[in-house]
Amino acid sequence: MKKTTETYDVIIIGGGAAGLSAAQALGRARRSVLVVDAGEPRNAPAHAMHNYLSRDGANPLEFLAAGRAELAIYPVDIVADNVVDSSRSEEGFLLSLAGNTQVRGRRLILAGGLKDKLPVIEGLAEYWGNDVLHCPYCHGWEVRDRHIGIFDDDFSVHKALMFAQWSPQITFFKSPGRELAAAELEQLEARGVRIIEEDITALLGAGGSLRAVRTAQGNEHALGALVISPRVETDLAAVAGLGIVALEHPTGMGQYVEVDAMGQSKVPGLWVAGSLADPRQQVVMAAASGLGVGAAVNADLIREETEAAVVALRLRKATV
Ligand SMILES: Cc1cc2nc3c(=O)[nH]c(=O)nc-3n(C[C@H](O)[C@H](O)[C@H](O)COP(=O)(O)OP(=O)(O)OC[C@H]3O[C@@H](n4cnc5c(N)ncnc54)[C@H](O)[C@@H]3O)c2cc1C
Repeated sequence: MKKTTETYDVIIIGGGAAGLSAAQALGRARRSVLVVDAGEPRNAPAHAMHNYLSRDGANPLEFLAAGRAELAIYPVDIVADNVVDSSRSEEGFLLSLAGNTQVRGRRLILAGGLKDKLPVIEGLAEYWGNDVLHCPYCHGWEVRDRHIGIFDDDFSVHKALMFAQWSPQITFFKSPGRELAAAELEQLEARGVRIIEEDITALLGAGGSLRAVRTAQGNEHALGALVISPRVETDLAAVAGLGIVALEHPTGMGQYVEVDAMGQSKVPGLWVAGSLADPRQQVVMAAASGLGVGAAVNADLIREETEAAVVALRLRKATV
């Protein structure tokens, strides 16, 4: 890693698909780049990643390791660490890392992703990302034709109707106190969704394979997969001093950081890439966002350098 006295053109917080893609665009544009990555991409619990053409079924962590290896030929430093604090001055950004280092950058890209707020269900962690899933496009194919349970949350009716595309056996575990609209009940019935009025409290299985759910009502129901829709949340503690705030995303999925069409935030010099700017993004979209933001940051640096060069040129001409 470079010495703290040096200033990188760009520092990127987060080395997921978005952060590494931004680093690739910037490194190839001959920018000096530092990626600080805590190494916990959102899809890390999943054994495999899908819907990324040419990488279908890749392990999420191996996919990112391959990305880091590709960046080795460019002026990109990657450090496994956590950004814990940050401040901004005329010259750019000063970041403090958990490993007691301070680093400087002219521009900052936030690509720290989102955290899933999982419901409290005993045993959930063992199955999350695999037999317990949230996204049919990520892992619907893998659980096709299984008996799929739907956990009762804000998106459960939508998910029940959706997963009926992947399996004829869908059971919606509706909380006994929850009222459904007549239209919703009709849609669920029309799509063959069974409703059980019980609260799921525990997951049962072995070796990462889900076998059944236990409910508060004391029953066990055999299942091959369970769908949940965790709320996503930002963790902006490291950049709290920069004035970046999380907003509620209009879809109701959770939090995000608002940016303009180029990925620029309201804080001068600070861009946001990937799912942090749009929780709907899948990996290939996060990668595309990183590329776009990397190019936008490079354009901004070129603008600044051109302005400075014009001033210098005029000075030189004025003095001859
Ligand atoms: C269980 C699950 C399975 C999924 N499966 C798929 C799938 O099959 N296909 C698909 O396309 N999408 C899938 N997704 C969605 C996918 O996870 C996201 O689209 C993707 O991770 C977004 O990439 P990102 O680069 O924006 O953020 P992330 O991949 O989350 O990367 C952010 C990185 O920033 C780091 N970071 C955060 N804060 C700091 C800090 N302060 N300092 C240093 N580093 C920091 C994190 O540790 C992490 O490494 C899945 C999601 C989940 C929850």
